[in-house]
Amino acid sequence: MGIAEDREMLLSKLSGAGYLRSQEVSEALRLVPREEFVNDSDRLLAYSDYPLEIGFGQTISAPHMVAMMTELLKPRKRDRVLEIGSGSGYQAAVLSLLASEVYTVEVEPDLALVAKENLQKAGRENVRVFVGDGSAGYPYFAPYDRIIVTCATERIYDSWKKQLKPGGIIVAPVGGFYMQTLVSLRKKRDGVFERDEHGNCRFVPLRKQ
Ligand code: SAH
Repeated sequence: MGIAEDREMLLSKLSGAGYLRSQEVSEALRLVPREEFVNDSDRLLAYSDYPLEIGFGQTISAPHMVAMMTELLKPRKRDRVLEIGSGSGYQAAVLSLLASEVYTVEVEPDLALVAKENLQKAGRENVRVFVGDGSAGYPYFAPYDRIIVTCATERIYDSWKKQLKPGGIIVAPVGGFYMQTLVSLRKKRDGVFERDEHGNCRFVPLRKQ
């Protein structure tokens, strides 16, 4: 079976299981070649529903987690999105098809380079990759409509809350080293945050600098 068939099979599995709920997110997952964001030796596994090693002890999230987080984030065409934890650049590439601009911050300089190269190869021109400690957000382009955190964080930092527009949404894995809860926060017009939980997940930890 070829990669195109693998991809369609994965998409129908993710829809059937309820991870993919919208046409837009399905289409974004269909259009971003995940095989270009994994190690060469893992290309054949690109459309299996697993996280994969991408070097430096980091991983590209499993497709169902990317689907779930993207659905929860609800990016709109005009949105400016901040991602904490660029990794391979795959999640940023998916978001770039659904939003107007994506800003992604990566603490590991060599991975930031990998993400940049992958995004360039995939032709994603509306993504900018920055090196830095994302626990401070990225104030230079704030405020954001959406913030997605793709490393495990002990808490939702005030910097993220501040850099989010009213009406905006944050999605993050919040918890300890071994397990986190997938949390979504919505900033109401009055600045108060509404919190929802969406089950357990496991991400590599946020490293503070
Ligand atoms: N979204 C990525 C997967 C992220 S893996 C993808 O689609 O491939 C988590 C990433 O968060 C790792 O690359 C790790 O280096 C990065 N990270 C950890 N702590 C960080 C911090 N404080 N600021 C920014 N990135 C961080």
